[in-house]
Amino acid sequence: MNLHEYQGKDLLNSFGVEIQRGIVAQTPAEAVAAAKKLTEDTGTGWHVIKAQVHAGGRGKGGGVKLAKNLGEVEQIAGDIIGMHLVTPQTSAEGKLVNQVLVCEDVYYPGENETSEFYISVLLNRGTGKNMIMYSTEGGMDIEAVAENTPHLIFNEEVEPSTGLLPFQARRVAFNLGLSGKAFKQMTKFVTALYTAYVKTDSSLFEINPVLKTSDDRVIAVDAKVTIDENALFRHKDYEALRDIREENAVEVEAKAVGLSYVDLDGNVGCMVNGAGLAMATMDLIKQAGGEPANFLDVGGTADAERVEIAFNLILKDPSVKAILVNIFGGIVRCDRVAQGIIDAYKSIGTIEVPIIVRLEGTNADIAKKLIDDSGLDVHSVVEFQEAADKVQEVLA
Ligand code: GDP
Ligand code: MN
Repeated sequence: MNLHEYQGKDLLNSFGVEIQRGIVAQTPAEAVAAAKKLTEDTGTGWHVIKAQVHAGGRGKGGGVKLAKNLGEVEQIAGDIIGMHLVTPQTSAEGKLVNQVLVCEDVYYPGENETSEFYISVLLNRGTGKNMIMYSTEGGMDIEAVAENTPHLIFNEEVEPSTGLLPFQARRVAFNLGLSGKAFKQMTKFVTALYTAYVKTDSSLFEINPVLKTSDDRVIAVDAKVTIDENALFRHKDYEALRDIREENAVEVEAKAVGLSYVDLDGNVGCMVNGAGLAMATMDLIKQAGGEPANFLDVGGTADAERVEIAFNLILKDPSVKAILVNIFGGIVRCDRVAQGIIDAYKSIGTIEVPIIVRLEGTNADIAKKLIDDSGLDVHSVVEFQEAADKVQEVLA
C-alpha cells in the first residue's frame, strides 16, 4: 500500500525522523491558512506547494513550486489543485491532484552549503536482508545515477538478528562526506529511519532528497513509503491511510469482491484459477504473440456468479481484444465452470471479443460438450497448445 508524501512524513516523524514541516490543504484558502500556521511555528518566510499524488517526479511535472508570499501560495495552490499532473511516472493523461502539501522552505541560505542525498530502505531479496541504499547524488533521478555513476551508490546490509548497528549508521554518514554536527544528525536520521521501516512493516522507504540544511540539520524533504499489505492486519490504523482515488478503479472493485486482479498493458484478458496457472497462462499468451491485459485469479470457487463478475471486470478494459479462460477443474468440476461461463455470457448479453476457454481436469469432456452445444461464440479447447494457437488465430 502506497502512502502520500504527507502521510509518509507524519509516520516517519512519529518514529523520531526529522522532516520538512508541512500541512495538507484541499483548497487555496486552506493553503493560505496552512502557510500562516507554518510561519508561526517555524518562522519560515517562503513556502513550497507540493502536489499530493502517488507518483514521483512531481517537481519535473510542475507539481512542486516555491511561493514567496501568501498571494503566491494562494495562486500556486489554485493552479495545482485540480490539475492533471503528468510526470515521468504517470500515464500521458496524468493524475488528478486532490490536495497539496504546504511546506516550510528548507533551502534557506546560511553558514554552510545545503546538500541533497538519496536514502532508501528496502529488502534485498537476494540475501534476504534489509538494506539501506544511499547516495551523495540526491534530489535527482536515482535511476540515472545508477546507470551512469554506479560507484556513487552505496549499500549497507542489516543483519536481522542485530538490527542496524551504530557503526553502520556512522559509515553511512561518513560515506556521505559529513562531519561535525551534520555527521551526528545523519547517524540519528538513519537510525530512526531504519527503526521506522521495521516497526511499520514497510517494504520500501525512498527519501529523495534527504537534505542537509545550511545550518547542518538533516531532514526528509520527500517521502515515498510503501507498507507491506500482508502486514496490515498488524496495523489496523494504517487502513485509514489508503487513498483509493490513487488506485486502479478495477483493481479496487475486484478486491472488494475478493478477486485478485492486476491491470496490465496488453490486449488479451486472462481468467484463471490459481496464481501459478496465471503465470503459465501469461507466458502462453506472450508465446502466441499477444500481451496479457490483466492477471485475474478467480480462486478456488469458480462458480457462475464469480465467473460473471470476472468477465465484467475484464470487459471494463477497452484494450481487451480476446479473453482466454484457463481453468483447472480440481475441487471445482469443469462442467460447473462451463455452466458458469454459459450463464455469465447469457446474462451479460453481447460480448464483442472472442472468448477461448480451456478447461482441463475433472469432467473436462462434459464441459467441452456443454460449451460446444451452447451455440455461443466461445471457442473451447482442451490442450494448452491449442489454446495458444487459438489466441494467435483470433488476434491475427
Ligand atoms: P518529486 O519531484 O516528486 O521527487 O518531489 P520532491 O519532494 O523531491 O521535490 C522536488 C524538488 O523540489 C526537490 O528536489 C527540491 O529541489 C525542491 N524543493 C523541495 N522542498 C523545497 C524547499 O523547501 N525549498 C526549495 N527552494 N525547494 C524545495
Ligand atoms: Mn523526490
